[in-house]
Amino acid sequence: MISMRAKKRFGQNFLHDRRMIDKIVSAIRPKTSDVVVEIGPGQGAMTQPLLTAGGVVHAIEIDDDLIYVLQQTIRDAGFILHHADALTFDFSQIASRFRLVGNLPYNISTPLLFHLMKYTARIVDITVMLQREVVDRIVAEPNSKIYGRLSVMLQYYCAVDRLFLIPPGVFDPVPKVESALLRLVPKTSRPLTGEEEILLEACVKLAFAQRRKTIKNNLKGLLQENDWLNLPIDPQSRAENLSVQNFISLTQYLTQNRMIQ
Ligand code: SAM
Repeated sequence: MISMRAKKRFGQNFLHDRRMIDKIVSAIRPKTSDVVVEIGPGQGAMTQPLLTAGGVVHAIEIDDDLIYVLQQTIRDAGFILHHADALTFDFSQIASRFRLVGNLPYNISTPLLFHLMKYTARIVDITVMLQREVVDRIVAEPNSKIYGRLSVMLQYYCAVDRLFLIPPGVFDPVPKVESALLRLVPKTSRPLTGEEEILLEACVKLAFAQRRKTIKNNLKGLLQENDWLNLPIDPQSRAENLSVQNFISLTQYLTQNRMIQ
């Protein structure tokens, strides 16, 4: 293997622990018929075992030096390398259905997950390593301090599951934080239309803008006093007390109300 110096700006922490790599690949359970998309293959720690499992692997890597390393070291007919920024990558060019995996660059994980949500119709599942704290926020339930915009939006689009924790020592360089493996499975049907989903996102953003304020206060630009009488939500509660279903009801109420006017 050609050894590379990790670049901080690309969030590089390379997996080097064989047992952990095997544990992660076993959790992914790649099949020969799979089209797998790996974000940030790095030096190929996970790419090679994924290819050995027999499927096609599309790898998206931003770093020129790593592109060179991967071209030199991985020679497999099923390996397709894309020299691109995953944040702006058009995933619809890959295949009609694919599985997504990766040890994500932690500095861009939130915008990257939001970008991926545009492609849920094509994605079978997502199995990614992230900072544990971010995974805990994603799977958080209402009524907790860590439940927020990320929890509501990702749980709206997907079934979410924290699979297991990953200690810092399995990476080189060793990160300061713990990691966890997250599984997201996009829902096959969703209650809102595309237009309503844009409204849902705006609504959730506003609701959590000032976490300590009541929901009524945060949404006062959208809803009047008497609107709350028609909603199954206590106007004195805070955004963190609302379930994903509550946010869906709010969005539906807003669109229906607009139609009446
Ligand atoms: N998968 C490798 C491993 O586990 O050893 C590397 C993981 S490292 C945490 C993150 C990888 O994502 C690096 O290879 C980095 O260069 C790449 N990366 C960072 N930003 C990226 C972006 N915007 N688009 C695509 N790849 C990116």
